[in-house]
Amino acid sequence: MSRECSWLVSCPFFQKYKHLDADEANRLKRLYCKGPYMDQCVRKLYKELHGSDSPAQMNPEGKILEDEDYEAACACECMSRKAQCG
Ligand code: SF4
Repeated sequence: MSRECSWLVSCPFFQKYKHLDADEANRLKRLYCKGPYMDQCVRKLYKELHGSDSPAQMNPEGKILEDEDYEAACACECMSRKAQCG
């Protein structure tokens, strides 16, 4: 039986970083949102503890992505159309 985090559809991290490198996004989802480390997801633990979402820029491993990471995530071949990434 497959398991999926009930917050995946609305998770602010994946909403904010929807242009994150597909390999990295898939890795995080495979390990945390749909995988063996779901109960260790820092975002999930934070929400259960505080009753509210952690900052959107914090990934499931607890790493805070800097704006440069966000910029880098958008800095693909569509750089000239970066405004569409926001
Ligand atoms: S990042 Fe964490 S809280 Fe967000 S959907 Fe994945 S497992 Fe759930």
